[in-house]
Amino acid sequence: MQTPSNQPPALEHYNLWDNDTPLREAALRVVGADMGQRLAGVGQSIGQPTFFALGRSANRNPPELRRYGPDGERIDELEFHPSWHALMMQAADMRLHNGPWVDDEDSAVSRAVRFMLVAQVEAGVLCPMTMTYGAYPVLTQSLVTEGGVFDGWRTPLASGNYDPRDLPGSAKGGLLIGMGMTERQGGSDVRSNTTTATPDQLAGPGHMYRLNGHKWFYSVPQSDAHLVLAQTPGGLSCFLVPRRLPDGNRNDIYIERLKDKLGNRSNASAEVEFDDACGWLIGEEGRGGATILQVGGHTRFDCALGSLGMMRRAISIAMHHAQARYTFGKPLVEHDLMKRVLADLALEMEGLVALALDLAQAREPQASDAEQRWARLLTPAFKYVVCQRGIGFVAECMQVVGGNGYIEENDLPRLYREMPVNAIWEGSSNIMALDVRRALERDPELISLLQERLAPTCAANPVLARAWQALAAQLQNPAEADMRVLTERLIDIAAAATLTAHGPQLVATAWSAARLEQAGGLYGSRSLAGAQALLLQRVWPEDDHDH
Ligand SMILES: Cc1cc2nc3c(=O)[nH]c(=O)nc-3n(C[C@H](O)[C@H](O)[C@H](O)COP(=O)(O)OP(=O)(O)OC[C@H]3O[C@@H](n4cnc5c(N)ncnc54)[C@H](O)[C@@H]3O)c2cc1C
Repeated sequence: MQTPSNQPPALEHYNLWDNDTPLREAALRVVGADMGQRLAGVGQSIGQPTFFALGRSANRNPPELRRYGPDGERIDELEFHPSWHALMMQAADMRLHNGPWVDDEDSAVSRAVRFMLVAQVEAGVLCPMTMTYGAYPVLTQSLVTEGGVFDGWRTPLASGNYDPRDLPGSAKGGLLIGMGMTERQGGSDVRSNTTTATPDQLAGPGHMYRLNGHKWFYSVPQSDAHLVLAQTPGGLSCFLVPRRLPDGNRNDIYIERLKDKLGNRSNASAEVEFDDACGWLIGEEGRGGATILQVGGHTRFDCALGSLGMMRRAISIAMHHAQARYTFGKPLVEHDLMKRVLADLALEMEGLVALALDLAQAREPQASDAEQRWARLLTPAFKYVVCQRGIGFVAECMQVVGGNGYIEENDLPRLYREMPVNAIWEGSSNIMALDVRRALERDPELISLLQERLAPTCAANPVLARAWQALAAQLQNPAEADMRVLTERLIDIAAAATLTAHGPQLVATAWSAARLEQAGGLYGSRSLAGAQALLLQRVWPEDDHDH
């Protein structure tokens, strides 16, 4: 039997933090050295074969719906593979679902890093984590308060435990919250929702209503509760709809079937019917859209973080392969054209990761008003650009690995299947680009706020200054049809500003030239202004065997 040669070993034994210079530098600008140590620990512990194996196994063994018990009783239970539970336990332990809300030493930046690290191992668990994270502030400001019906939820909602048991929330060690907006006739346009809610006795915030109708997508149906949109006499409203009622009985939510999905297979997404289900009104009737948007700000940002994490895993695999695989007498990474492609991919990570952590900082609970308004504008823009570009990015990394990149044992096929969902759920690409326009219409001062924010970096970077001047004029009264191109421009400019402010300057110059000056094209089509060697060195260590 022939011993295989020129086949690089699988990349599954490395520190995800130590090997990622752009992420480390961007994070350490904000978090202290102690937190840096903790993040290095996370990167080390999850970058191990056992973890990568859990991710693969959870996707190979997707959840199954058990609609009936042995005696024919409707039970609507889900059966998950043990690897899913193991991954959920880890994600909860890392407090992806509540860290910055409950721990003063935690921060949105540190959580963003952890979120990106976990995404590299398994992205399915990010869905329950982000929805619970987004729901936390809404719930603790409305229903989960002292002395209320959901008083007993406060402790488990703030805990770092994962508790998959089907019990009333107050009897559990940890909680998960989902979201139910999309119906058959409309997802982006939630005004078309037909599910109704009528007061059981009294109407108004905190009171119980009866819900009738359906949701066409209802991810994580095993959650302890969902935030559900339904029509009331006062308009579209948001309800907390628990799986088990406070008295322990099942709520009347029926799982019709589980979706058979392209990717995201470890995670369950269901279709459900409500048959006089109980839901508690959050806020005023008619304010449901605004409440869900509050949650959506967090989940949309997390979609981008999830995609960035998967892009990072893809480029790590590509670089690891390109260093060890020989073609035509030398390693792939030494061929000029491949070098250009890899450096262009590395540049993408530099700009988007630096901007991600800037944005995470602006999303800290204590951020200034100006920061929050900047984040309001940039979040949908960032979600659109990262999640949409990321799909091609992962395909390009697959290209680097060649035939092996298309084979399941390599993680690239799973990453590739997973990527598009982030560009669809929580607001698809066009909707995000249109949301940028809406933010500009609602807050006309945003352009002068951007002007002020960009002024110092524009002074240092003439390419950036020219690009911003042109965009500022176009943003004054943008046409709907132009919103994708303008949104992409906005993100490329914001990333150029972040790189210019924090360096390295060679990288900032390369980004500005490649993304703001040269005509767009596929990866490898743009010149990188002499930054190639630096980009490759920063994205992946030259000799990765000891890492
Ligand atoms: C795996 C998965 C899990 C999901 N889980 C959940 C969940 O848990 N809860 C939930 O509520 N939803 C969930 N969704 C649904 C998801 O949020 C919706 O699919 C998404 O919001 C788009 O809605 P839609 O499918 O109805 O498409 P549509 O609204 O019909 O839109 C179709 C396309 O048209 C574009 N479009 C729409 N309006 C305009 C316009 N005015 N101008 C230009 N373009 C436009 C959209 O961008 C989109 O590309 C899930 C989806 C998937 C794939």
